[in-house]
Formats: sequence, C-alpha cells, structure tokens
Amino acid sequence: MGGFQVIVSKTDYIPTKKIVEVLGEIKVKDYKDLGEGESMQRLIRKAKTIGADAIINFSCRRGEILWYDLIDIYTGLAVITEDVIPIKQVLNTNFCWNCGISIEKDQRYCRNCFAKLI
Ligand SMILES: [Zn+2]
Repeated sequence: MGGFQVIVSKTDYIPTKKIVEVLGEIKVKDYKDLGEGESMQRLIRKAKTIGADAIINFSCRRGEILWYDLIDIYTGLAVITEDVIPIKQVLNTNFCWNCGISIEKDQRYCRNCFAKLI
C-alpha cells in the first residue's frame, strides 16, 4: 500500500486541486459498529486500491436499516487529482510562462518569444 495521503472532502471540489479522472463511487458498509475511524480507513484503502488520490462527495449515513440490521454507510466518489498552481503564484513569477526567460515586473510582452505576459 502506498504511503501517499488520500484527501477526503464532503464537497465536490478540493481547493488547489483539479479533478482529472472520476473512478467511481466507493462504499463501506459497517455492520459491526467499527467506529468512524476504522470505517474511514477502509474507505480510504478502497480508494487507494483503485488508484485514487482523493475522495469527494464524502458522506456518512448512520443508522440505516438494511434487512433488520442497523448499519452505517460511508460513501464517496473516488477521483484522481492534479495540483493547480494558485493564480497569485503565476502572477508573481519573474519568468516568462512560455519560454522561461526572466522578465521585468511591468513587461507586457516577452522580449524573447513575444508571449503576452499580462
Ligand atoms: Zn518568452
């Protein structure tokens, strides 16, 4: 099992990340009252097994009745994400985004490749 972290989010997005692939819904049914920690670990292991690095739309429904048993159901959407560079970081850079040469602060066009900078 890889040592990387799986991000879990209750919303359908993760700040600073972009979702590049949706792998599908994953679910853990807890019949034995394992507790939230153990059930979450199982959900995260499931996500890792199929190659996800994040779980979005996470939800936990406690006390669902299924065939006369009271169970907790943990669900989420397993996804693969990529880092998004924060826009501030892009604007503060001193290098041309296109060719990589250093540029002046107020320069509007790159002197090397003529890419638009602002
Ligand atoms: Zn350039």
